Amino acid sequence: MIKPIDPRLKSWIPVDKNCDFPIQNLPYGIFKTAGNKPCVCVAIGDQVLNLAAVAKLGYFNQLKFDTKVFSKDSLNDFISLGQPVWRAVRNRIFNLLNADREELRDNVEARKKVLLPMNEVELLLPVKIGDYTDFYSSIDHATNMGKMFRDPANALLPNWKHIPVGYHGRASSIIVSGTNFHRPKGQTKPADAENPVFGPSKLLDFELETAFIIGKPTRLGETVSTDKADDHIFGMVLLNDWSARDIQSWEYVPLGPFLSKNFASTISPWVVTLDALEPFRTEGYKQEPKVLPYLEYSGKKNIDITLEVFIQPAGQQPHKICTSNYKYMYWVMEQQLAHHTVNGCNINIGDLMASGTISGPEEGSFGSMMEITWRGTKPIRLPDGSERKFINDGDTVLIKGYSVKNGVRIGFGECKATVLPAT
Ligand code: CA
Repeated sequence: MIKPIDPRLKSWIPVDKNCDFPIQNLPYGIFKTAGNKPCVCVAIGDQVLNLAAVAKLGYFNQLKFDTKVFSKDSLNDFISLGQPVWRAVRNRIFNLLNADREELRDNVEARKKVLLPMNEVELLLPVKIGDYTDFYSSIDHATNMGKMFRDPANALLPNWKHIPVGYHGRASSIIVSGTNFHRPKGQTKPADAENPVFGPSKLLDFELETAFIIGKPTRLGETVSTDKADDHIFGMVLLNDWSARDIQSWEYVPLGPFLSKNFASTISPWVVTLDALEPFRTEGYKQEPKVLPYLEYSGKKNIDITLEVFIQPAGQQPHKICTSNYKYMYWVMEQQLAHHTVNGCNINIGDLMASGTISGPEEGSFGSMMEITWRGTKPIRLPDGSERKFINDGDTVLIKGYSVKNGVRIGFGECKATVLPAT
């Protein structure tokens, strides 16, 4: 097995120490080059390793699975082979890229066929997403929102510490990093107006989130316990759950957000496996009051993943506006999945389940403009002198995520999109 945080492990491909993709990571993605069909790859340094090409050269022959899964435009078929195959493939790739192994290292012709510079390929949506669920699992975020919109003394609603609150989102508008979109239009109701008006959203926001991808399905009626939940998770991505706050505040009663959140949700192109993240498991918030038995879990289930958000106005450099961490989650993925299936709701390979906005306890760690500018009352100033309460046309919002231990950095790459003017 790979020792994911052993800094002595190196690839024969040079990897910068600030790069997200050392040999200990090996995240999966889908890439395409001009004139060729998409296929499965892993990231290594500033290169992509074309797994369809690796398979064609016979390097996976010993593993006895149908390598056609690598010549597909999504990871779903590969994921459906199951966790033992994911792990065997991960180990095989690790050995092929290991600086101490000559098999691929010393085969110059083969190397030319399987490696491509990452900046010369197009990275596509990594999975076909059937269903998308968004949770609301950060206590600091939920508390901030409650303080702003309800009662500062009773910021959390009575169910919040008992239920990992969530809602069903929309899969069709989940887009891969680098896909730009137009500012949404919709109904809003200005505070002083009697009737709603229609037009472009004036309060466009980002939400700093991660999401996990289902790797093992369940049948209708089946439930997943917290201690079996990890078997059903293939890996994680970064997610920006773009939100139009003015549309949201008018439409959300009584059934929750609808058009304010389903116009675009950006995910990062690389799926970082749970195996790569395992060494970064850590304690989370103590859950008080005690949760119901089906939500109890043992061991460390939070993960120490630093999360950063940058705003980049057109023609400017990215400017960091937030540093948060996945460890601030109150409800962890294992509880979210146990809750999601406790009523018998079935899950499918490729389903995406998002964390909800991840805010930390202090200013500087808040995961949305709503919280950072406290509903627009405390605008932030960017290096070019301009102010932001929310996101302007032409702004790019960039999310980064990474875990570091022993000098080994396991990262997610970039999750970014630029807001174009409303059509
Ligand atoms: Ca959200």
